[in-house]
Order: sequence, then structure tokens, then C-alpha cells
Amino acid sequence: MESKLQELKARLMEVNDLNMAGALLSWDQTTYMPPGGAPARGRQLGTLAQIAHEKATDPSIGKLLDDLRPYEESLPYESDDASLIRVARRDYERLTKVPAAFMAQLQGHIATGYDVWTRARPANDFKMVRPALEKTLDLSRQLANYFPGYEHIADPLIDFADYGMKASSVRAIFSQLREKLVPNVRAITAQPPADDECLHQHFPEDKQLAFGLEVIKRFGYDFNRGRQDKTHHPFMTKFSLGDVRITTRVKENDLGEAIFSTMHESGHAMYEQGINMAYEGTPLANGASSGVHESQSRLWENVVGRSYGFWEYFYPRLQAVFPEQLKSVPLDTFYKAINKVQRSLIRTDADEVTYNLHPIIRFDLELQMLEGKLEVRNLPEVWRARYTSDVGITPPDDKDGVLQDVHWYGGVIGGAFQGYTLGNILGAQFYAAAMKAHPEVTGEIGRGEFGTLHRWLIENIYQHGAKFTAGELVQRVTGGPLSVEPYINYLKTKYGAIYSLA
Ligand code: ZN
Repeated sequence: MESKLQELKARLMEVNDLNMAGALLSWDQTTYMPPGGAPARGRQLGTLAQIAHEKATDPSIGKLLDDLRPYEESLPYESDDASLIRVARRDYERLTKVPAAFMAQLQGHIATGYDVWTRARPANDFKMVRPALEKTLDLSRQLANYFPGYEHIADPLIDFADYGMKASSVRAIFSQLREKLVPNVRAITAQPPADDECLHQHFPEDKQLAFGLEVIKRFGYDFNRGRQDKTHHPFMTKFSLGDVRITTRVKENDLGEAIFSTMHESGHAMYEQGINMAYEGTPLANGASSGVHESQSRLWENVVGRSYGFWEYFYPRLQAVFPEQLKSVPLDTFYKAINKVQRSLIRTDADEVTYNLHPIIRFDLELQMLEGKLEVRNLPEVWRARYTSDVGITPPDDKDGVLQDVHWYGGVIGGAFQGYTLGNILGAQFYAAAMKAHPEVTGEIGRGEFGTLHRWLIENIYQHGAKFTAGELVQRVTGGPLSVEPYINYLKTKYGAIYSLA
């Protein structure tokens, strides 16, 4: 058994190495590559992905997984070996159930559809992408049907990103959340909006970058195993557990952009850096799910990084970096500015309170499309109606309406949006558990100290990597199932102090 396990690990490591080499090429593509590199880079990424896919679906891996089943069953569920075999089998079954020819067709279609979308959005022309989107819907349904036995056709697609979650469970959570959010959004937005002019002065790029780096160094992001570079759309990427990188973008007329995106991506990166080094090169060296990953970026960005205590420590430092711009702006004004709540059209620019309404709308609409209850041609109209009823604002065009997110145009329909809101819910739930174990964390944040919180997250969440599903992790960490209560309490406490709430 020992030699079979070693054989399995060696084969998985090979697949991992090919994928990580591809990740490095992608990172370079979005950071430093000159435009002339684009055609060859696309081809090189395709070649690597194809070889990795062939190796990952090799029947000999299936044979090893079968042979190792008795060994796996003889071990405790939580043991590293049993978890490795279990997670490798889940990946293998997912990859082998879908024919390679279908995947090639899907990827080819997505590349074309994405290209059309990059032109259709600026042109505000939904009709231009409609045929591609109709085909995407058709292919998304076909993809789901390679995993028969589902309760809802979206289930397999949700499962890819948030293993163990279903349309029914997500829908139940989201309807509870929506019911509680909508009245609070109404109560807050009925009041005069916060003045955030102080954030929109001129802030030189180099100083913004240096300040962001100082913050995440204090958080515990390890620069010996990471670095930050500039890009158009910030992201975190990993080439090994010893090299977890982040990217950011700077707007010199918007102080919030770089600082909060840096904190966000550092949360994703600290999660990866905190994974048990013994899992290197195996499928365990990943986050538990997209929702759990997002919980960590949002915990550091929002729960910590937009808290009053955090800025009690860091605001005098920020004022010292930008004395001309901020010396006459009191902390309270700055705090309200970075937590300004307003009805808005664009998901990625939305504040903490209104944010979740955006993914919830998309999630509902994609379920309806997959169910065949909503036709693509009616999508823009239904989108406008939902924004009017839920967010209280009607998109004036499709560019900032149904065309705004890349997800449906650069991927399948289904499975991509629930993770954002699950992340907000889980982030608050995990943070509440950390505070229960270590009430001193609040005081430490006010002194610019994050060690206790970071260690608790490593111990309870990060080190396990993909060993546990999101559901198992929540149960272990908080002693109960996923719940919206801690998140609602967090929002009510925080925003109740800024605005008067009913
Ligand atoms: Zn994120």
C-alpha cells in the first residue's frame, strides 16, 4: 500500500507541476508580458493544460485509487493519507466523467464568447452576445448532465466550486439573508450618504503601494513566500506553498482601491501560505471551497480592514504618509467614508451592506435559466426588474446591467456567484468563533497586532487545506452549521453605530 500511495503522490505531483507552470505563465501574462507575447502564450497555456488533463485522467490513477480504497477505509477520516486519497478520487471522478471532446468544445466556445463580450459590453449591445450566451446555457446544461442524479440541474456546477452545496441549500440561506438585508438597505439609504470626498484627492501611487505592503506585513503575509505586483484586475495566485503571490491596482484619485484590494488578496494568500507544508503538490494543498476562500479575503479586508479599531492604529500612520490630503480629516470622517453605503449598479464596487444583493440576483437568475424558466432573450429585462425591486435602482443600460460581470461570458452559467456571498457569511461566522476563543483580538487589532487572530485562523482553518469540505469545516470550527446570524449581527452592530437602523 505504501508504494501505491507513493506512486499516486508522484503522479499527482506531476499534474500539479504542469498546472503550476501554467499558473506562472498566466501570472506573467497579466503582469509583465509585452503585448507581442499574447499569441504564443495562449498556445503554450493550452498545451500545458492539455498535457495536465491527459495525465490527470490517466486510467492508471483510477486503478491506484481503487487499489488504495481498502487502505483509505482502514484509516480515520481525518488522517492525511485518507484525506489525500478521498480528495484525489473526487477530482479524478469529476475530470473523467466529462468527455475530453466536450471539454474542448466548451473551452473553445467560452474563448469565442468571451471575445464577443469584450466588444459587446463597451458597445452596450446585449444582442451581440445573445447567441453565444444561448449556446453557453445549452453547454452548461449538458455539462451538468454528465453528473446525473442531481436534485437541481445547477447542483453539479455549484459542487465544482463549493463542494457539498446544492441549489436548495444555497437558496435557503440566500432567502434568509435577503429578507434581513433589504429592510436594512432601505433604512440606511433613506439617510444622507456619507461624505467620501477625502478618499478622492490625489494620492501618489508609490506611497499607496508602500502603505498597503506595511499593512499586510503586519497581518502576517509572508514576503519570503510571496510578492506583490501590479495588474488590471487584482488576483492571488500560487506556484507552490512557498510562492503565493498577490497583485493589486492603484487609482491615484481613489485611496480605497489599492489598500482594500491589497488586504483582500492578502487574505486569500495567507490562507494558502498557512496550509500544512506536508501537503505540497497534492490536491490537499488548496482551499476548502470558493466560499471558504472568499471568507478569508473578506475577513481581512472588511471585518478587520474596515473596522474602527484597525484605523485607530493605522489612520495616524496613513495621515503621516499623506499629511496634506488627510491632516484635517478626522478619523470618524475617514471611517464613515470607507464604509459608505449606497444603492449602486456595479457588484464589484458595492459596499458591504448592499454587496450581497448583487450575487443573490445573479444566483436566482442563473437557476431560472438552467431550469428553462428564463430565456436568455428576456434576461436584460428581468435583470432590470430585479435591480429595481432588490437594490432600488434601475440600470440605465445593459453595459452596467446584465453585461457587467465576466462570469457568464467567460465561463459556464452556474456555480460562480454563490461563493462571494457564502464568503461574507462564513467570514463573519469564523470571526465570531475566533472572538469567542480570544476576546482579546479586538484590543490587539486596535494596537496593530494580528498574531492571535492569524494563528487561530492557521490552526483552525488554513493548515487543513482541502482536507475538509466547507460544511465539515464550519461544524468543526464553530460547533454548528453555516448560519447567517453572525453576519447579520455583524452588519447590524457595525452599521447601526454609523447609521440609525430600525
Ligand atoms: Zn476574492
